[in-house]
Amino acid sequence: RHYGDSEKPRCGGCDELIFSNEYTQAEGQNWHLKHFCCFDCDCVLAGETYVMESDKPVCQPCYMESYAVKCAACQKPVEPEAQRVSYGEHHWHAEPRCFKCSGCSTCLVGQRFMAQQGSLFCSVECKKKTAA
Ligand SMILES: [Zn+2]
Ligand SMILES: [Zn+2]
Ligand SMILES: [Zn+2]
Ligand SMILES: [Zn+2]
Repeated sequence: RHYGDSEKPRCGGCDELIFSNEYTQAEGQNWHLKHFCCFDCDCVLAGETYVMESDKPVCQPCYMESYAVKCAACQKPVEPEAQRVSYGEHHWHAEPRCFKCSGCSTCLVGQRFMAQQGSLFCSVECKKKTAA
């Protein structure tokens, strides 16, 4: 045991020991409450919902504004905790109102589908019908 070793947790942000009894555990590390902040707006994330984006924590409002993928159907950002379907560049809410056939509106969640430039089809027939 080296001199200076301590039972105190070390902050993943500033690399100093944490002497306060209150601290945040996140991403497998310990943090001063003030040092686990949103990378964009600096709000303290203790107890808040956050999303790891390229190894940086961001709060939910910042995530929704700057990072969330947009649903190809309704054009709204997909919430971090929402179910989504991704195909190539495109993403959809995994819900009947968004992830459905452009031809016949059949819900395609859990179904076979074809995608073309953000449009979804249940079958070759629907694809032909819609393209025509
Ligand atoms: Zn710190
Ligand atoms: Zn933020
Ligand atoms: Zn949607
Ligand atoms: Zn269809």
